[in-house]
Amino acid sequence: MTRSIIKAADWTLAPETAEGTPQGTYSAVCLTCGAESPTPDSERLPAEVWALKHTGLHPRHRQFKARTETFWRVTPAEGNPHRETDPRSAQAPA
Ligand SMILES: [Zn+2]
Repeated sequence: MTRSIIKAADWTLAPETAEGTPQGTYSAVCLTCGAESPTPDSERLPAEVWALKHTGLHPRHRQFKARTETFWRVTPAEGNPHRETDPRSAQAPA
């Protein structure tokens, strides 16, 4: 048995805002054959164009699963002892 004690108030979950991190990435999977669009992109358009081209090449493949992934970061909240060693918390205004 696994037992976890979580103090939700000591940690904060928020979207990752580090430089170079996209707000989200987009990709698509053909539900007929399982083919996947190339590397997820921070723009929707490449996955949409890939799906249209895939159907153009395989006219019976018309259903896709659109994937969107986002990025999160957990940071120590006020009063959490890890806050002192967290570089992002040190940059935050007091
Ligand atoms: Zn397909």
